Amino acid sequence: MWANPADVAATLRFAAEAGLNVTVRSGGHSAGGLPIQETTLLIDLAGLRAVDIDARRARASVAGGALWRDFDAVAGAFGLATTGGLISSTGVGGLTLGGGIGWLVRKYGLASDNLLAAEVVLASSEVVRASDDRHTDLFRALRGGGFRLGVVTQFDFKLHPVSTVLAGGLWCKAERAAEVLRAFRALSQTAPDELTMVAIATVAPPAPFVPPSLHGKPVVVIACCWCGDVESGERTLAPLRAERRAAVLYDMAGESRSDRAARAAQLLAQHLFAAARRCGNRLDRRALRETANADVHDSRSPSGRRGGARIR
Ligand SMILES: Cc1cc2nc3c(=O)[nH]c(=O)nc-3n(C[C@H](O)[C@H](O)[C@H](O)COP(=O)(O)OP(=O)(O)OC[C@H]3O[C@@H](n4cnc5c(N)ncnc54)[C@H](O)[C@@H]3O)c2cc1C
Repeated sequence: MWANPADVAATLRFAAEAGLNVTVRSGGHSAGGLPIQETTLLIDLAGLRAVDIDARRARASVAGGALWRDFDAVAGAFGLATTGGLISSTGVGGLTLGGGIGWLVRKYGLASDNLLAAEVVLASSEVVRASDDRHTDLFRALRGGGFRLGVVTQFDFKLHPVSTVLAGGLWCKAERAAEVLRAFRALSQTAPDELTMVAIATVAPPAPFVPPSLHGKPVVVIACCWCGDVESGERTLAPLRAERRAAVLYDMAGESRSDRAARAAQLLAQHLFAAARRCGNRLDRRALRETANADVHDSRSPSGRRGGARIR
């Protein structure tokens, strides 16, 4: 277990002496799989998970093996956030070094846009701090092209005040996909930066927040996160939520506090990814027919208040 930069530096020295290649693991979400061969030494940063917040300066120092869920839990308690992953189990390391798209990306940029500095153990085992004014070439490379440049043991991020978001998913009938996706495209072209949306064609997972009648059915989900004034968010989402009501099966967009907002949206994405994996993301004919017959779940309760799963 690697606990600090000195451990990492010692490991790199050992690998160099033994003629071993080195690879790094942070959150373990590398889509292509880690390039491990017989002569590869894996540095697993799971022991480096600390997150420190300087609320006054709106900065976070995050250890190289932390997951986005570690970060969200601590930063959210201060009403602060930065762009992380759509899913909370992704590593801060790999996601930031590759750019990093998340629920706040349109408002606050990529995760790497919010990177202020990084502590890096180089192949020579020297520990350096890269930022806009030190080791500037290395710093530029780390912000999006950062794989195999060294082992990052600490990331420093800029934070933003995020108190309330409107987040969740609109679940739509798969056979209305063309109509829904056209509305999604139109809104994407005009929506303010406060709105980040993802359209997913998948099979509804048996998650607690999904009505049982939808479980296993093909759906199109517009997952969205509005980071700004909630009333404006409601108005911006209206074309999808109201005008396209005929296509909407279930509306789970709702207000949520910042410390849980990211987790709520991430939970949705996590279930969708898991379901897509289980079902091989196939939309079979029987399921399509069943979906056509599925009850439409109105997003409003009989009292007229917005119902569904309100994310808290
Ligand atoms: C289910 C899933 C969901 C995803 N969601 C998103 C998303 O919402 N937004 C997005 O932008 N991307 C997303 N991705 C892509 C993801 O960002 C990349 O796969 C990323 O590399 C994963 O980082 P990791 O730390 O979890 O993975 P790891 O497998 O641990 O690391 C991947 C590579 O990153 C490098 N690395 C990681 N940490 C360090 C470090 N501290 N120092 C030096 N090098 C390091 C290493 O080269 C390593 O091989 C997703 C991937 C999956 C599988």
